[in-house]
Amino acid sequence: YFVSFEGIDGSGKSTQARLLSDHLRATGRDVVLTREPGGSPGAEHIRKLVLEGATDRWSPETEFLLFTAARRDHLERTVNPALEAGQVVICDRFADSTRLYQGLARADLRVLVDQLHELVIGQEPDLTVLIDMDPETGLSRALARGDGEDRFESFGGDMQRRLRQGFLDLAGEFPDRFVVIDGNRPVEDVFADTRAIVEARLP
Ligand code: C5P
Repeated sequence: YFVSFEGIDGSGKSTQARLLSDHLRATGRDVVLTREPGGSPGAEHIRKLVLEGATDRWSPETEFLLFTAARRDHLERTVNPALEAGQVVICDRFADSTRLYQGLARADLRVLVDQLHELVIGQEPDLTVLIDMDPETGLSRALARGDGEDRFESFGGDMQRRLRQGFLDLAGEFPDRFVVIDGNRPVEDVFADTRAIVEARLP
């Protein structure tokens, strides 16, 4: 079973993914917690190439090709072997982040993103948990922990709002696999919902 977590930066999705993986392990499940971009040695390498260094090193097109190459490696090396072994895979971000960040934030690349996804990925999570978060709170949380400041400068507050709405639109586009959880609450309350939803769906 394949669960992805999505949300804007600072939404708390990584915390929820970790809490869920700890909880499922404690109940005896075999869990692989992984992330994108990254999640395999090659894909972590690509993550560094894209996220570290100058923000204008890659064109939007090249950046989305790199993210897709990373995803393909992550699937081949980490996700698919785990799914075949019957493990639960919990992934912090997956293709929806590319649909959104590269498809909306940089340029009108969404059509290309979908075409390449179809060609070389062709796989979706069984369940996608969207941690929905007020954009201002998310941005200040993400800045407070000091991640990706260069990227945020190019995103700005308005971009955070567009990204939040973009995720909600994706949830509407794929209603069978998305659930939206209100992330503007204490971590325990958000996790109570996350846990209930995932446990109800796990085979
Ligand atoms: O989720 P995480 O904090 O690891 O994401 C790292 C950075 O990569 C974030 O700033 C996010 O905005 C960016 N990102 C991106 N395109 C993706 C996935 C992540 O620009 N497809």
